[in-house]
Amino acid sequence: MTKSLMDSVGQLTGVGPKREQALNHLDIYTIADLVTYYPTRYDDLAEKLPSQTADGEKVTFKGVVASAPVVRRFGYKKVMVTFRLSIEHETIQVSFFNQPWIAQKIDIQNEIAVYGTYEQKKQRMTGMKIILNEEENDMQAVYPASKEIRQSTIKELVFQALHTYANLIDQELIPESIRRRYQLMSHGEVIKNMHQPTDAVTAQAARRTASFEEFFIFQMRLQLIKQMDRQNQGRPVNFDNDELKQFITTLPFELTEAQKRVVNEILRDMRRPQHMNRLLQGDVGSGKTVVAALAMYGAITAGMQATLMAPTEILAQQHARTLGNFFAETDVRVELLTGSTKAAARRQILEDLVAGDIDILVGTHALIQPDVLFHNLGLAVIDEQHRFGVKQRAKLREIGMNPDVLAMTATPIPRTLAITAYGEMDVSIIDQLPAGRKVIKTEWVRHNGYEKVLDFIKSELAQGAQAYVVTPLIEESETLDVQNAEAVYQELADVFGPTYQVGLLHGRMANQEKEQVMAEFKANQFQVLVSTTVIEVGVDVPNASVMLILDADRFGLSQLHQLRGRVGRGERQSYNFLVSDPKTQYGIERMEVMTQTTDGFVLAQKDLELRGSGDILGKRQSGVPEFKVGDPVHDLKMMTIAQEEAIDMVAKPDWDQDPEIKTLVELLDETMARYRNFD
Ligand code: ADP
Ligand code: MG
Repeated sequence: MTKSLMDSVGQLTGVGPKREQALNHLDIYTIADLVTYYPTRYDDLAEKLPSQTADGEKVTFKGVVASAPVVRRFGYKKVMVTFRLSIEHETIQVSFFNQPWIAQKIDIQNEIAVYGTYEQKKQRMTGMKIILNEEENDMQAVYPASKEIRQSTIKELVFQALHTYANLIDQELIPESIRRRYQLMSHGEVIKNMHQPTDAVTAQAARRTASFEEFFIFQMRLQLIKQMDRQNQGRPVNFDNDELKQFITTLPFELTEAQKRVVNEILRDMRRPQHMNRLLQGDVGSGKTVVAALAMYGAITAGMQATLMAPTEILAQQHARTLGNFFAETDVRVELLTGSTKAAARRQILEDLVAGDIDILVGTHALIQPDVLFHNLGLAVIDEQHRFGVKQRAKLREIGMNPDVLAMTATPIPRTLAITAYGEMDVSIIDQLPAGRKVIKTEWVRHNGYEKVLDFIKSELAQGAQAYVVTPLIEESETLDVQNAEAVYQELADVFGPTYQVGLLHGRMANQEKEQVMAEFKANQFQVLVSTTVIEVGVDVPNASVMLILDADRFGLSQLHQLRGRVGRGERQSYNFLVSDPKTQYGIERMEVMTQTTDGFVLAQKDLELRGSGDILGKRQSGVPEFKVGDPVHDLKMMTIAQEEAIDMVAKPDWDQDPEIKTLVELLDETMARYRNFD
């Protein structure tokens, strides 16, 4: 049988069904997976001195045994072996607990290496392991293992694979021209040096190339997906430019330069016969809705329909109303379809929709039911796209006749991640707020400053303003959330009443009830709205100028930013108060960052730095994939280069016929197959 890197790891000697399963659980299926199962770190036996070691660090010291081991027994079954170890000019004390046999293994004057936890102040190490063999490589690979499989087993299997598949591993992955341009190692060298580096410098260099390989393969995959997407049958949306221009003059405001730019990008894309897959990114309040409205109007002037899907009922209702207002003077017909649309009304809507009598259908995921059929759908808009799963997004693309898709997000993915998260989409960015917006003043107060904040709110209410009060988020329990909100509501009704009215909104209310409360608040029938986070997205009450968030450290930065975006939408100077007593440095920094910037992109970047890319927004939601070696945030430049090279590569005809990159092509085939099965 001819060997291939796509062979199952079950082919290796010593791997039976059970071990194979254990490997699978570590995402190791093929030989290619195994040889790129890189060590997370190396125990460097050569370099460290006690004086260079931090307190509490796990470390390996190599030295000479300076005193004969002393064995002490105490208590029942407790044994301690102690000896002194000289490392160059420093001497430390080493103790092993409950490993009495250690004493037999070491002799005074012997050169050994000891791995353990070092206590800097006491110059003492609690040993975990001794390494006697001086012949061993200084750089000892450490693999992430599991309960089912030991790290030494992984090490042996990697070793075996490196030998058995040596000539295949030596085959190049990245074209030589690219390798030379960026001074990368050959693929064979990378693999070998990742697992068995001779020294730290080589390990570092191998890691650099391994990151690039990983990014390059990732970007190649995105480019291929993009290519498949483009080949997907799309239809040109031949909009009427004059009608659009005319419509724009009827808007109640002048578009910002950024809005004009993205409208052009979107319309240009829609006119092309290929399928559009575009992301519209813009901070809260940047005015994405009107951009979407113009794109939808474009489709309508081309004789097609449009749809807008929002993540919540409140948002869908609001969008339907906003669009209704935009199009009030036109004959565009906007309808709303959600889970609470009554059966008779629903039937009528479906009938009119398929007949082409409805131009824009706004709704929640109730839109993607099999019986919702369009007459001629040209454009599908998804608001807050990260709130929908991959499946729902894919489904929306399948309704109608593969409509152009415009996804919107107000969760600014920092530029450093956008290239990774949205690599297969084209991105339009609104990087400007409408003129005349006053910067929201943000203040962080500790709980003992709460009363003062309430006094301040009173003085704002006296001037005719309205205020939101967001109650703490309790992740585990919606019941507690609601109880909390009710308690705060009672308290504030006392504080602000009877002069001002207080309202309550929470997740346990029926949709109709919520809608009612929002409508009343918008109509200023009450002045203070106490709420759980249900008001988080999209809600628009321009007269509200205070956003008070209790226990603010329970929220993520992005969420705080979204909440803050509920104010500052009108003429009034707006205020955001964050009440919290964070217990950690991380918590304190987050509060401080909030007071320092109102730029969502800056916040998202900061969030990323504080949390690390692994955690941003929850991986699944943001769509940011995990990498084995590379860090897409810190190695952004490398990711950018990998993208550019991948774009160039797939643009060349027959690039996949080049025998030099057979391994790459094989790998891509495999991953593309996995991608297709993804949904
Ligand atoms: P978001 O991007 O957060 O969805 P919206 O589309 O809800 O923002 O817009 C926020 C508010 O700004 C709305 O009241 C909208 O009418 C208004 N708006 C949008 N564009 C402009 C503009 N160019 N000039 C003035 N106001 C605008
Ligand atoms: Mg919006």
